[in-house]
Amino acid sequence: MFVQRNHENEMEALILTGKEKLEFGERELAVPEDHEIAVRVAAAAICRTDAKMWRAGHRDLVMPRVLGHEVCGAIDEAPGRLFAVWPGSACGSCSMCRSGRENLCPEMKITGFHRDGGFAGQLIAPRSSLVEVPKGVGASLAVLAEPFACAIHGVKQSSIRRADRVLIYGAGTLGILLAVAAINRGASVAMIDTNAEKLARSAAFRNRYTIDADKPDAQEKFEIVLNATASADTLESGIRRLAPGGRFCLFSGLGGVPESPATIFSELHYRELELVGSYGCTRQDMRDALGLLSRYGHDLGFLVERAIRLDEAPAVMETVLAGTGFRQVIEFSDK
Ligand SMILES: [Zn+2]
Ligand SMILES: [Zn+2]
Repeated sequence: MFVQRNHENEMEALILTGKEKLEFGERELAVPEDHEIAVRVAAAAICRTDAKMWRAGHRDLVMPRVLGHEVCGAIDEAPGRLFAVWPGSACGSCSMCRSGRENLCPEMKITGFHRDGGFAGQLIAPRSSLVEVPKGVGASLAVLAEPFACAIHGVKQSSIRRADRVLIYGAGTLGILLAVAAINRGASVAMIDTNAEKLARSAAFRNRYTIDADKPDAQEKFEIVLNATASADTLESGIRRLAPGGRFCLFSGLGGVPESPATIFSELHYRELELVGSYGCTRQDMRDALGLLSRYGHDLGFLVERAIRLDEAPAVMETVLAGTGFRQVIEFSDK
């Protein structure tokens, strides 16, 4: 039977239909429920997590699915205002939610994973997930609110204090955002990345904020170490670099098992070190991130490596997966 297509009820979208199958096409507009709202997407950043799901899928990812969890956009009822979308959707009533740790809610549903995300002209989000973007922060920077919020969460979990010396493994987007969040707390920061070319891309920024990345002295000790890379050896080498009483924050999940876990635990014991985790972000972290974007955004433009159209996204997934650059941001020009 011939079915007439009604384009008013459709939007352009990038739909993940299978491994490495990202199809550009029309998708029916979903109807928001009472507690939800339709957001016209202004920009969406492509994160390495998206690229990993494109390459390998995920046990809990049901396809077809529209990816994209770093998103900002507009709503009809508030013309001229821009909102970042907190990608979480928590129950609001469990003990984690009630204690302000909504990122750990067992009922968590993530936009761009459990529900359709921002690689489309429109997405449906819970009203309570919208966080207004301050004036002066444009859409291409506002998409950094989510990764920045995760970095701020890591800095909170690490209890970074004024004058702490902080070492960050990994000088990608998250490494840089961790550095900004730490500096904002008055800490001094050093970074390590095995890829010299990648480090060079942030040279101007690091010089301005006096971030040492010139192979920090192996003897130098730090109060706080965070990993913004999945390489497992950062755990052991990071723990060795901690000053007595120092703290290691597992910010990125490890891609493998560290070689000598026994040594790591002995170090924790003898020098009273602490190991903390950091996972995702809360709405308060998103608000804090947008505040810091107002303050530091003028120096963070380099994190948006390239603005692309939605239909160009499939072609950059391989590059994003390689993790050698900063953010590729999909911009929707008619917004
Ligand atoms: Zn992400
Ligand atoms: Zn909950």
